[in-house]
Amino acid sequence: MFNREVLFPIGIDRNGLPVELYTEKKYKISMRSTPREKFIEFCKTALDDLEAEMLSIMKRMGLSGDFEHYYRTDSEEYRKLTQSTFIELWNKGLIYEDTRPNNYCTKCNTTIADAEIEYVEMPTKLNHIKFGIKGTKKELVIATTRPELLGACAAILYNPEDERYKKLKGNVTVPLYDFEVPIIANNYAKPEFGTGLVMICSYGDYADVRLFRELKLKEKILIDINGKMTDAAGKYKGMKVDEARTEILKYLKSEGLLVKQEDIMHNTPTCERSKNAVEIIPMKEYYLKQLNFLQTVKNYAQEMHFYPENYRKNLISWIDSVSMDWPITRRRFYGTEVPIWYCKKCNKAHVPKPGMYYQPWKDKAPFEKCSCGEKDFIGDERTFDTWMDSSISPLFVTGYLRNETLFKKAFPCAIRPQAKDIIRTWLYYTLLRVHQLTGKVAFNSAWIGGHGVDEHGEKMSKSKGNVVDPIPVLEQYGADAFRFWNASEAGLGEDFRYSISRMEYAKKFLTKLWNISRFISSFPIEKTENLEDSDKWILAELNVAIKKSIEGYETFNFFIPANTTKQFMWGAFADNYIELVKNRAYKGDKAACYTLHTCLKSILKLLAPVCPFITEKIWLELYSKESIHKERFPDLSPHGIVKYLDYTQILTEFNSIIWKYKKDKGASLNSELREVYAKKELKLFENDLKNMHNIKVLKFGEPERKEGKIIKFENVCILE
Ligand SMILES: [Zn+2]
Ligand SMILES: [Zn+2]
Repeated sequence: MFNREVLFPIGIDRNGLPVELYTEKKYKISMRSTPREKFIEFCKTALDDLEAEMLSIMKRMGLSGDFEHYYRTDSEEYRKLTQSTFIELWNKGLIYEDTRPNNYCTKCNTTIADAEIEYVEMPTKLNHIKFGIKGTKKELVIATTRPELLGACAAILYNPEDERYKKLKGNVTVPLYDFEVPIIANNYAKPEFGTGLVMICSYGDYADVRLFRELKLKEKILIDINGKMTDAAGKYKGMKVDEARTEILKYLKSEGLLVKQEDIMHNTPTCERSKNAVEIIPMKEYYLKQLNFLQTVKNYAQEMHFYPENYRKNLISWIDSVSMDWPITRRRFYGTEVPIWYCKKCNKAHVPKPGMYYQPWKDKAPFEKCSCGEKDFIGDERTFDTWMDSSISPLFVTGYLRNETLFKKAFPCAIRPQAKDIIRTWLYYTLLRVHQLTGKVAFNSAWIGGHGVDEHGEKMSKSKGNVVDPIPVLEQYGADAFRFWNASEAGLGEDFRYSISRMEYAKKFLTKLWNISRFISSFPIEKTENLEDSDKWILAELNVAIKKSIEGYETFNFFIPANTTKQFMWGAFADNYIELVKNRAYKGDKAACYTLHTCLKSILKLLAPVCPFITEKIWLELYSKESIHKERFPDLSPHGIVKYLDYTQILTEFNSIIWKYKKDKGASLNSELREVYAKKELKLFENDLKNMHNIKVLKFGEPERKEGKIIKFENVCILE
């Protein structure tokens, strides 16, 4: 409607963890005890069902994307592009392998990126535990939330300013395990927290990781990738973390080593998907360099348009907080495979040529022999983090490496529409990866949407039981009511509350539109004639609505056109103008018919993006054989002269007073009024007002006659 050529791709993201977890639950299987080939088949079947439902909802909702060419991120073509772009970055030297402590979700059984971590305030116990000082009978009390990590304790820290411990030196003995660790002065210890002493373990959190590196401490791995205690935990080996914690506390208590326990709230890093507390475990993974690109991505974030503006700072503060490279490999099955083979003899990593889809866990290596002469290779069994796929969607949809003509025309993309909860993942990773591959910004604008929440503003979740299934709502109210509600309910980027009464209201609005259209359809469509002042007045009001609505569309803020058009249609147009000119229209007055149709056509066009079905239906019935969605937004009417806007308030007030007067008297709206005095300004609308309210004598200014009963209102007098 802005006369632009638009590429609106539809894609289904089918890779990754959520799919695997869903499949495990649906078929009551576990990924690791199912043959890989078979597990992948299960995932595909589960996805096909979900996809069919998603597509049908999208269509039912009236999305106007390209459904004929919709894409799937798990298709061979898409995965081929993910792999090709990985190989491109590999060849640019941006990928490296390293063993380092990393977030590990023992429930999802995989490494996860910082971007997938959610910090949750959780209640926990702060345990005050006695440590012995070597060579003395003295004891120190150290507070910790992770007593199960005692076996991995490598140092005790105190703050150099802390008077209590300033003179401490030497080693302390770790209870339970009886080994010694040094006492070190370090600013990380906060005198006001616990006893002011901190035990540093591999690894309770990222501060531990940093301190281990800084103080050159030797790590011990106490928790394995299944979330169980390792050999290093001694007799607690094989226990789950929680179980080991309980047992260790029980032992410390029985030995008199547990001085006290405090209830505290702890800001705990959890897995965004499983809500499981993450562990920090050293793993060998591939990393994509991102630290060198942060400034560039930040520049993009500063230059792009954000709708609404306030989400820009979310992206920037995320970029500012990134402190390590992106671990991109995952120990999962359903995802794009890491296209690497290793020489069986010298273990050298071999990356194949781009342009093919590789499955190294089952395919034969596409190499003759290694530089060492060996001919056997072992394929990497890992998959990529699913954001490796999703972050190249702007490249996939514009034909990168596949359709040069399209790519030239369509890249960079105009806009990324997305939800607010994936700014640090989808938005950030896309800007990073697309820049690394093309040297350009992925899109010019980001449109960030809020979430649907329940009537009380609570996030919808299965556990709360407040999730609204869209299908029955669509069936009961129709897509247009659903869309109108969505657009008119909340401002740009805000959450929108679902409630039946709001949906009812949206439906009522559409019924009103339908009834107005039916009424207007009984009058002929005329060309411009000499317009009356009432006609010029409503066209002036229409111009305001057009201008405002288009400004709303230009800034992707659908709240504005939805509400502006609604207010115009329901207020000035239906309640006032239609009533004013009804009489003229019935008599075939060309100016009235012209104006009624001009307003209706504009209303339909302004609402078309929000309510595509009803506007299309009315448009095709009344005005054209061509779709309304191929029309342009309406131009401003040359007859809608601005000065007429001055009359709106006086006119609508006058009408309200007369209606209320009649209603209070119990009279019908078309009952006759003998004599009425109105404000001078309304003289312009004299004839229309007389007809509208069935006024026998309409005069302007103060009443001249003194006899009879005069009912006075502000600016209006009615003579009975
Ligand atoms: Zn998890
Ligand atoms: Zn080799």
